[in-house]
Amino acid sequence: MRSLVVAVDGPSGSGKSSTSRGVAARLGLAYLDTGAMFRAITWWMLRQGVDVHDPAAVAARVHEPVIRSGTDPLGPTIAVDDVDVAVGIRSDEVNAAVSPVSAVPEVRALLLDLQREIIARSLATGGIVVEGRDIGSVVAPDAAVKVYLSADPQARALRRAAEAGGDVTATQESLLARDRIDSGRATAPLVMADGAVHIDTTPYTLDEVVSQVVALVEAVEAEA
Ligand code: C5P
Repeated sequence: MRSLVVAVDGPSGSGKSSTSRGVAARLGLAYLDTGAMFRAITWWMLRQGVDVHDPAAVAARVHEPVIRSGTDPLGPTIAVDDVDVAVGIRSDEVNAAVSPVSAVPEVRALLLDLQREIIARSLATGGIVVEGRDIGSVVAPDAAVKVYLSADPQARALRRAAEAGGDVTATQESLLARDRIDSGRATAPLVMADGAVHIDTTPYTLDEVVSQVVALVEAVEAEA
């Protein structure tokens, strides 16, 4: 039986989520959306009235919410204190606040532990595709396959606006603002991990990108 981790990193709108879910479904692996976990903590902070631009205020409350991620690629779930927040975490308020909250080291430390627990559990049942910004570099540096997805900013904004609705120019500005914070932060910034394969998804369909990543997994397995 398989027992492997596939790390998929890249900026928002690069095709990470759809690709990761597609790869997990094709290979019978679990799927973890770590962005949803950062969004869930951010959602809770906003609900509690915590000043998300005050790292000390965020750090002081970080152990209060209970975050649970469901890892079925055909129906992933995300809950905070047993409340389903799948829709709430995609709001404009969360989009605007998630990068500053994610830059707080205490937030990253808490979620790192949770992510590693989920990964360890999944290895008993075949493995997992994990998507985020720091999966290949920090969360799972020993992952068997590491992929870094990117796409033209315009293509990313068009995809996100098609998924979530909204104006393409405003979506592009919001994506680029998050990229700047995610790439510039001190703790676990968005980087291409050592050993990662870079795929620019701009010219490809989702199915083509999924096939490219599945081929990488099969190549690693053939070598083993
Ligand atoms: O992937 P998604 O766009 O949902 O991620 C939302 C935000 O969560 C990112 O902009 C980033 O600030 C943060 N994030 C992170 N590390 C991860 C995944 C997401 O900092 N591994």
